[in-house]
Amino acid sequence: MADTQVLSGKLLYEFNTISAMVEIYCKAHHKTNSKSGVCEQCQDFLAYANTRLDRCPYGQDKPTCNKCPVHCYKPHMKQMAKEIMIYSGPRMLLPHPIMAIKHLLAERKPAPGKPPAGQSNRHIRKASQA
Ligand code: SF4
Ligand SMILES: [Zn+2]
Repeated sequence: MADTQVLSGKLLYEFNTISAMVEIYCKAHHKTNSKSGVCEQCQDFLAYANTRLDRCPYGQDKPTCNKCPVHCYKPHMKQMAKEIMIYSGPRMLLPHPIMAIKHLLAERKPAPGKPPAGQSNRHIRKASQA
């Protein structure tokens, strides 16, 4: 599992939502179960998503990646994210109703403008360590 210790607030919540979606997707597509956790490919995807969240230039004000004008994901990871969202989005409501509703509401927000400078979780962490 990816290291989630550095994320907090909205970024951590979003990571937990993505993790829940990946678990649903992995179970159906890669035949894993809740005991074995997600497969290696999905673990790599989660580690990648975790880093993107940590480095997101919008920081705690990030939009959904779907609406983002920056699109920081590599093409194959973006494709995987899309497949996971399409499959797991509608299947989240029963096991994770609050996460599902928050995700749907976030998806309805309009696309943001250019990100402000120095807003990422990583920037804020470094500043607090100085
Ligand atoms: S820059 Fe955009 S695509 Fe990348 S993590 Fe932030 S919101 Fe998502
Ligand atoms: Zn998997």
